[in-house]
Amino acid sequence: MTVESAATAAYIVAALLFILSLAGLSKHETARSGVVFGIAGMTIALGATIIAAIDGAEALGIVLLLVAVAIGGAIGLWRARIVEMTGMPELIALLHSFVGLAAVLVGWNGYLEHGSFPSQSLEDIHNAEVFIGVFIGAVTFTGSIVANLKLSAKISSAPLVLPGKNLLNLGALGLFVVLTVWFVISPALWLLILVTIVALALGWHLVASIGGGDMPVVVSMLNSYSGWAAAAAGFLLNNDLLIVTGALVGSSGAYLSYIMCKAMNRSFISVIAGGFGIEAKGGDDTEYGEHREITAQDTAELLTNASSVIITPGYGMAVAQAQYPVADLTKKLRERGVEVRFGIHPVAGRLPGHMNVLLAEAKVPYDIVLEMDEINDDFASTSVVLVIGANDTVNPAASEDPSSPIAGMPVLHVWEAENVIVFKRSMAAGYAGVQNPLFFRDNTQMLFGDAKDRVEDILRAL
Ligand code: NDP
Repeated sequence: MTVESAATAAYIVAALLFILSLAGLSKHETARSGVVFGIAGMTIALGATIIAAIDGAEALGIVLLLVAVAIGGAIGLWRARIVEMTGMPELIALLHSFVGLAAVLVGWNGYLEHGSFPSQSLEDIHNAEVFIGVFIGAVTFTGSIVANLKLSAKISSAPLVLPGKNLLNLGALGLFVVLTVWFVISPALWLLILVTIVALALGWHLVASIGGGDMPVVVSMLNSYSGWAAAAAGFLLNNDLLIVTGALVGSSGAYLSYIMCKAMNRSFISVIAGGFGIEAKGGDDTEYGEHREITAQDTAELLTNASSVIITPGYGMAVAQAQYPVADLTKKLRERGVEVRFGIHPVAGRLPGHMNVLLAEAKVPYDIVLEMDEINDDFASTSVVLVIGANDTVNPAASEDPSSPIAGMPVLHVWEAENVIVFKRSMAAGYAGVQNPLFFRDNTQMLFGDAKDRVEDILRAL
């Protein structure tokens, strides 16, 4: 068996493992085995690719390849080990940018260095692949960098609203189509340079135009783009596995974006078109009045007398790492006969499933962790709601104020409960930068401070 056919066989095994991995990751009971399948598939794919590349290569090339793999692997391992759970989205965005950059480099290389083509039509196809690969890669590259900067709060999460922004996006797409045809008919370096610049600018603009509240969709959308960029690179490199994997990532990312859009009541098309149709809103200078504060001691008393409690965690619980004392509190209250359940918003935190992961880590039983749709009607009959580090996902303005930037996004109806206690450190706004009228409602009291410290105070008081 030649090395090439062995590599092809290994690629088929790896592709099957990737499919099993995706299937496993779709349920939390099987997620762990999904990850194992993914790691196994990637190890086989990488091993087969390296062996196929080494076969017949010069010594210097082999050394360069192994050094590059060692450096890349070491950086990846180091970053993944030190990243906090809350820093995961920005790391993922950064990794997507590498896929985009790789597709651009592969595309450029495909133009600058290729053998002769047996026919004109094959050369035309090659040129189209180069052009499309560079375009998708460059959009993914700058789009992911802006997403990384927004998610790590290095730039504002507010949407950039340039005059005629939709026309700019459509114009860039139109130009890309014209340039592709031109390039296929008469390939020239300046056309490739031009499309790279246009795509870099488009990627930047698309993501910069999307507001903070819609960022979850952007992360999954860039995941999808990076898949298509990888598939485009696969065509150029004649690598079937890269095409299959790219298509898997591209289509599953697109489907995830669609699910997230549905959960947030956003139009899929408007988000992928860079906030198409979303106009800038003026600043919020509404006067909401005074808020009330409560102590941990009084919260403990309220909880002792409650018959039912719903906990709605958010990003702040992840920052404070409050899931462990929250799990202890849940256990203690349930032992005293209080019904305790969790209400999870689909975009709470900074990652799809972020809260579910944290609660599972702290061993909160799955059956009391309910999704927004399952629990939203129950708030009205609940004695106490503990809002632990959540903000945008419990903001009544989303359903009551049509001029709010998060208008239309479904939220947890916590304000319908008898008592609402909000755990946070200050009166600062949430990720979308919108003030939350919940904090000023008559049945709401603020418990200020780090969420972990405050929950521990309540545990002591209980
Ligand atoms: P938000 O991000 O809206 O708000 C979090 C709140 O937690 C803040 O108001 C902050 O207030 C508080 N907080 C921060 N640290 C602590 C701490 N140590 N102790 C106590 N409180 C703390 O949270 P949500 O989860 O409600 O909403 C998620 C937002 O993130 C949505 O807008 C969503 O669209 C967006 N997003 C979601 C992604 C996803 O995939 N899930 C991805 C990207 C964005 P203070 O500073 O006063 O303490």
